[in-house]
Amino acid sequence: MTIDVNKIREDFPILKEKIYGKPLVYFDNAATTQKPQVVIDKLIEVYTKYNSNIHRGVHYMSNKATTETENARNIIQKFINAKHSYEIIFARGATEGINLIAYSFAEKHLKEGDEIIVSELEHHSNMVPWKMVAERKRANVIKWAFNDNGDLELDELKKLITPKTKLIAVNHVSNSLGTINPVKEIIEIAHQNNIQILIDGAQAVQHIKVDVQALDCDYYVFSAHKIYGPTGIGVVYGKEALLDELPPYQGGGEMIESVSFEEITYNKLPFKFEAGTPNYADTIAFAEAIKYVSAIGIDNIAAYEAELLAYGEEKLKTIPGLKIIGTAKHKASVISFNIDGLHSYDVGMILDKMGIAVRTGTHCTEPIMLRYGISGTVRASFAFYNTKEEIDLLYKGLLKVVEMFA
Ligand code: PLP
Repeated sequence: MTIDVNKIREDFPILKEKIYGKPLVYFDNAATTQKPQVVIDKLIEVYTKYNSNIHRGVHYMSNKATTETENARNIIQKFINAKHSYEIIFARGATEGINLIAYSFAEKHLKEGDEIIVSELEHHSNMVPWKMVAERKRANVIKWAFNDNGDLELDELKKLITPKTKLIAVNHVSNSLGTINPVKEIIEIAHQNNIQILIDGAQAVQHIKVDVQALDCDYYVFSAHKIYGPTGIGVVYGKEALLDELPPYQGGGEMIESVSFEEITYNKLPFKFEAGTPNYADTIAFAEAIKYVSAIGIDNIAAYEAELLAYGEEKLKTIPGLKIIGTAKHKASVISFNIDGLHSYDVGMILDKMGIAVRTGTHCTEPIMLRYGISGTVRASFAFYNTKEEIDLLYKGLLKVVEMFA
C-alpha cells in the first residue's frame, strides 16, 4: 500500500488552516504532531458521554471509562508488542516516564560511585533526570559522544563500560539530528555486560515499527502527542520483573493496596506507578491515534517519510550557504540546518510569515549544539501528511530568505 496523502490530509482538520492568509505548511512534527479527527472526536465522546473517574466506581459511566482506559492499555501493549498489558504504565509523557524510571531505578540500584552512560545525542529529558539522580546518589553520568555525522559508535560505548556501569540511557531516534540509533545492538551490548537499558522512543514510535520483545529492551518510553495523540499522556514500558523490583515513584490514591498509619502496602503493576486520578480521557483518545496509524501501517508511513526526507535533503542542499547538521547513516524524517551568516531564529521568523512552521534553536539538546559549536539550527521535521509540494514551498521560502539577507 502506498500513502494516499490527499486522503490522509482530509483526516487532519488543522491542515486546512490559513496562517497570515497563507496555507499552513506544518514542518514542526518532531515537537508535536497534529491530530486526526478520530482522536478529537474521541475526546469529545469521553467528555460528552461517559466522563467519570475510573477504577473505583460501581456505576455505568465509571465502568465504561475504566473499560475504555484498560482497552487503550491493551491496544498500546499490542502496538509495541509488550508481553503483558500491565507492563504498560501511563505517565504524562516521555519526560515523566524517564523521571519515573530514573527515580525508582536510582532508589533501588544506584550507589555511590556507580555509573550511568548517557549518549550525547539525548534530549534534555533523557539527560537531566539521570544527572539529578546521580547527584543525589553520588554516582556519575558518563557521556557517550557521537561522531561528526551524528552517529553513535558501538566501539566507543564498549570502551565506556566498567564494572560500575548500572544503566545505559539512549534515544531510538534523535530529535535534533534525526539519527536512528542501532538500539538492538546497543541493548545486546548492555545485556552482555549485565547492564539495564532505557530507550527513549519519543521520536521513534511514529516512524519505526517498535517491538519491545524483539528488541529485548528493559524500559522504553514515548509520548502520545508525537504520534498523533493528545498531549499530557505517554507510556513507560518496562519488563515485569524489573518493574516489580522498583519502588513507586509517587504516592497517593490508586497506587496502594492498603493504607494505615502503621503500614502501607503497594498495588500491583501497573497501578503501583500510577498514583492519583489518571489522565483517562487522553488515554482513551491516545488509543484512537494508535489505531489510526496502525491502519495506515508504520512501514508505509516510514517508506513515504523516507521519500520526503530524500527529496527535502536534495532540494535544500542546493540552497547557497545551507549546511545540513546531522548526516547519520540512518535518519528519520528530520532535516536540521543552518545558513551561513544567518541566525536560526531569523530564518524561522521569516518562514513563519510565509505560513511555514519550523522549529529553531537548540531543540532541548544543548550538548549537541555545544559539540558542533553552534547556537542552534532550523529544523524541518516531516510527517506522513506532508507533501513534496510543501517541501517546494520551504525551498522557495529559503531562497527568498537568502536573497533578503544577501
Ligand atoms: N525525548 C525526545 C527524543 C524528544 O524529542 C522529546 C520531546 O521533544 C522528549 C523526549 C520529551 O517528550 P515530552 O516533552 O513529550 O515529554
